[in-house]
Amino acid sequence: MSVWDQIVGQKAAVAVFEAAARAARSLREAGSDDAALARQMAHAWLITGPAGAGRSVAALAFAAALQCEDPQTPGCGTCPECNRVLKNTHPDVKVVTTERLIIKIDEIASLVTLAQQAPAGGKWRVILMEDADRMVERSSNLLLKAIEEPPPRTVWLLCTTQPGDVLPTIRSRCRHLSLVTPSVEEVAQLLVEREGIAPDTARQAAAMSQSHIGVAKSLASDPAELERRRKILLSATTTSSVGEAALLAQQLVDAAKADASKRAEEKDQQELTELRRSLGYDQEGTRLPPTLKAQETALKADQKRRATRYLRDSLDRVLLNLLGFYRDVYLLQCGAQVSVINVDLEETIVTLARGSSAARTLARLDAIRKARQRLGANVTPLLTMEAMMMDLRQ
Ligand SMILES: [Zn+2]
Repeated sequence: MSVWDQIVGQKAAVAVFEAAARAARSLREAGSDDAALARQMAHAWLITGPAGAGRSVAALAFAAALQCEDPQTPGCGTCPECNRVLKNTHPDVKVVTTERLIIKIDEIASLVTLAQQAPAGGKWRVILMEDADRMVERSSNLLLKAIEEPPPRTVWLLCTTQPGDVLPTIRSRCRHLSLVTPSVEEVAQLLVEREGIAPDTARQAAAMSQSHIGVAKSLASDPAELERRRKILLSATTTSSVGEAALLAQQLVDAAKADASKRAEEKDQQELTELRRSLGYDQEGTRLPPTLKAQETALKADQKRRATRYLRDSLDRVLLNLLGFYRDVYLLQCGAQVSVINVDLEETIVTLARGSSAARTLARLDAIRKARQRLGANVTPLLTMEAMMMDLRQ
């Protein structure tokens, strides 16, 4: 199985990566400075695509192909080099995952320093940034300098949702590769083949998730998750009074908070323990001296930012589900000959489609889109959800 097999529904992108990995090999082996090869194997890549389309999976596969030792196919998926990259233990491949809202400037500075070092294995030094948009301008400028004058064996792989998420100056120096949203069929097939899920369930989950691979997986394998989704959609689309709407907004934010802290809790504790151990204070109940206390405070501030991001991610999921729901209502109102995505809510969808106008549904879709934008622009989650719930009322 090659490294490309795990990339779902991205034939065009895979072809580009494969060609680049071959060019990279020719460049390295022949010690060549062939301009055409160098263009194919750019030093900086901007990999964009919607959430859940597998940007980082694709970038990591490319990193593996660059390190691969198979004499025929770069990216064989079975050699020790491929394996190390895929397991994230390769010394020349640095994956920067950020759980924070913003990547700190000293973090970027240390990556820039790392980029200057020749790869230990002699092939390529790869720096993969999963969320290259989470930088302030000062950090972006620092990164820009590093991309402008890269050492011969360094490759930057920057991932974001849209090209517009990074500064134009950075964008113009990167080779741009955009991933598409995989089709429902492709995601369903992945669930069947990789997770052993029954075809019908897989297809339904893929459609409900709107082709988000991770979400589809959890909907298909966890009945509780499916039920939770159904309940939220049902209550959000049937409230009528102002009081109910406000209460529901509050409940949605509370649920998202609980969800976020559940995700964060374990990590938080582990990081704190690790920090204390690294400082030599791993005994239970030992008090940190004031000078070291600052490090702990900084870590806790980072963790708080991460919790904020989890909260926004979780609410955005609710909003996406609502968009899918009202899209079903709208298509029905237009008499479109397609089957509804939210089969578990078909009855409610039919009732709503009959009892309201298509114009009203479009206004609701707009309200949800506006809420997504506001969340993205850091408007308080509760205010955002309240405003939207008011607009969604029956
Ligand atoms: Zn390999």
